[in-house]
Amino acid sequence: MTTLIRGGTLVDGAGERRADLLLEDGRIAAEGTNLAGDTVLDASGCLVFPGFIDGHTHLDMPVSGTVTADDFRTGSEAALLGGTTLLIDFATQDKGGTLAQALAVWHSRADGRCACDYGFHMAVTDWNEHTRRELHEMADAGVTSFKAYYAYDTLMLSDPEMYDLLCEMREIGGILGVHCENGPVLDRLRAQAAAAGHTDPSWHPRTRPSIIEGEAVGRFLRLAELAGAPAWVVHLSTADGLSEIRAARARGQRVIVESCPQYFTLDESVYDVPDFEAAKYVCSPPLRPLSDQRMLWGALEQGEIDILSTDHCSFNFKGQKELGRDDFRLIPNGMPGIEHRPTVMYTAAVASGRMTAVELVRLLAENPAKLFGVWERKGSLTPGKDADVVIYDPRASQTISAQTQRQNCDYTPYEGFRTAGAVRDVFLRGIHAVQGGKLMETGCGQYVARGKMR
Ligand SMILES: [Zn+2]
Repeated sequence: MTTLIRGGTLVDGAGERRADLLLEDGRIAAEGTNLAGDTVLDASGCLVFPGFIDGHTHLDMPVSGTVTADDFRTGSEAALLGGTTLLIDFATQDKGGTLAQALAVWHSRADGRCACDYGFHMAVTDWNEHTRRELHEMADAGVTSFKAYYAYDTLMLSDPEMYDLLCEMREIGGILGVHCENGPVLDRLRAQAAAAGHTDPSWHPRTRPSIIEGEAVGRFLRLAELAGAPAWVVHLSTADGLSEIRAARARGQRVIVESCPQYFTLDESVYDVPDFEAAKYVCSPPLRPLSDQRMLWGALEQGEIDILSTDHCSFNFKGQKELGRDDFRLIPNGMPGIEHRPTVMYTAAVASGRMTAVELVRLLAENPAKLFGVWERKGSLTPGKDADVVIYDPRASQTISAQTQRQNCDYTPYEGFRTAGAVRDVFLRGIHAVQGGKLMETGCGQYVARGKMR
């Protein structure tokens, strides 16, 4: 059984070309002209991308006394509708628990429920000899990327622990991503603000200033230098952090930089809205001043940012964000975005003329595939790879709205955003799962055991 995608423009990291694409038995079989297929799909006027990869999601995650609004079913359906065919979520060790337990819990939440393929990173929160030995078992189970936190009492590691973990990454050929905010200091700023009677959401960004990120990025990169390990800075949001990254790269370090659409398209002015509406935008790191945003755009255009992920971590405004109505410290941190990353970034970066579609697809597919150890199977339209394919119609337009999104959340930070283009069809390993913008197949997602970073 073969499918021919005919008349489109193929776009992957290798370039842009007019060609047809043949899918067979779940794989990409060939690209060319004059190909024949059992089923023929017209893609005239459309861009044909490899399936996008979202390397930073939080689905079905308990946090702040509640659970994220999206679970693996709704989150993965939203992802697929937006053209994301592989998501990598953060399994998280409990303090006192093991990595194996955490991995089993995340499998129990995801297995059999996902509309797109999925994998797991492992967040290490309890560093001890047993955890150290388990890292090898994780790699054997297809978990080759790890995360550690410099913030949040229940998650954070100390500097010596972070250093140990970085040294182990070298041993197993893994990559460590770090949430770079100086947690103890920002907790102090938050406590001071609360003690002074400042309780509204606008105090969220004010108590997480850019130095809080920049200092932690610098510390992480120095420890990585000491350990001789590559470093992955997750969700970079500031010029302060960027300058630390530039310094580390100038020293010859390998630094993988991730950022997210919200830091390019939204800014701190969203916190100025009256009453409690600003709680919708409470995420960490927070949205930043336009001066930071301009620096990030410059870095993106210069190729200094490697991957764009979402940090999707959704909470409903009603009943969840509202937990912090009387104290901004109790607002669950995070925003939805898994559905809209490709269209938002295509609109903001490609349609606006800032970068080419080829450059964007490297950020959304090729680079994450290489970094997260799935390049053998995913991330480009090369024959032999999984037939994860997105047909994108650049002539279409949609207005993003909570009313019409699949994300299981009562708002979207992109409400009213007019997109340039829309995802029309999506194939997941050859399964025609999204047709004409509608989800036709769900529950077909498979766990992807990942190899080493390239
Ligand atoms: Zn995150």
